[in-house]
Amino acid sequence: MEKPEILEWLRTEDEGDLSRLWQMADNARREKVGDDVHLRGLIEISNYCARDCGYCGIRASNDSVSRYRMTTEEIMESVRLTVGYGYGTVVLQSGEDYGIKTDWLTEIIKKTKKETGLAITLSLGERDDSDLLAWRDAGADRYLLRFETSSRELYDRIHPPLPGRLSDRFAILRTLRQIGYEVGSGIMVGIPGQTYDCLANDIQLFREFDIDMIGIGPYIPHPDTPLGRTLRASTAISSDQVPNTELLTCKVLALTRLTCPLVNIPSTTALATINRADGREHGLSRGANIVMPNLTPRKYRELYEIYPSKASCDENADESNSRIRNQICAIGRTIGSGRGDSHNRKMAA
Ligand code: SAH
Repeated sequence: MEKPEILEWLRTEDEGDLSRLWQMADNARREKVGDDVHLRGLIEISNYCARDCGYCGIRASNDSVSRYRMTTEEIMESVRLTVGYGYGTVVLQSGEDYGIKTDWLTEIIKKTKKETGLAITLSLGERDDSDLLAWRDAGADRYLLRFETSSRELYDRIHPPLPGRLSDRFAILRTLRQIGYEVGSGIMVGIPGQTYDCLANDIQLFREFDIDMIGIGPYIPHPDTPLGRTLRASTAISSDQVPNTELLTCKVLALTRLTCPLVNIPSTTALATINRADGREHGLSRGANIVMPNLTPRKYRELYEIYPSKASCDENADESNSRIRNQICAIGRTIGSGRGDSHNRKMAA
């Protein structure tokens, strides 16, 4: 699908066209990756962060956040829960926390591999090549790093670099691929300043960059961030501005399934947050094939507040697991077994 057509879909409000889009995406999903929904146990291991991203609630300069870093034993408890629920993958996510030392995480990765054999996904921000390499050698399988937006100008506005270091997430994605990780990326939909044109470029970049897993969620303003405050203050919104709605998020999801049919696409927590009633199900029936239930210990969940009112904040791991299983079965889908590796990578191998 070329850019003009992507743009047309992004702009359409016609109900008939939209149901056609959902149908095409759902058919492509079924045909290329099947009915299985793979579950990934998400553990938010630390909310310390060295960066000051304009959109994110756990940015370094937000003093109102109480910071935590899970201990090895706490992480291993959550890893064991992941196995107990029958998932094939554990995802370790955090702020860009340089208190997460290379060797410390290396040991956790090795221990997890040895005890459980789970596939391990890391999502720890822009770490040095040497860390990425050490963790890959220790057994990490996949790495998630969203490029957030393909517009360099917008990215620079919302994502200040660390002193003396350029932030080039595309360069890191290339490195990850070279080192042998399965590579995940993605974007937020509806960032203030994001135009339809940017969004169409984002979708094309997923394909050009040959990304294996693609996370797409609505941007949700956080009141303790510069970007969250601007959005509330701004009155006039231009007709080029992409809205941060469920509809736009689902369109991007569906178009991504159509342009990159083999990839893994999660129905994200952010989508479930802006439509608690059936956001998750809409994601799954418009292209997605992955869900990442939150298995972070209850006491830490509300501290990992990248955006407000995050779905699942008020649950424990057992509750998240059973609610999500029920949601998946209720729409006639099956729960995947095994690691759920990206079909995109398998084809490339
Ligand atoms: N520190 C890691 C993990 C960040 S959390 C990293 O930067 O890669 C994972 C994703 O949450 C981010 O990539 C971003 O796309 C999303 N996110 C952060 N703040 C958000 C907000 N206010 N609304 C919606 N999504 C947000």
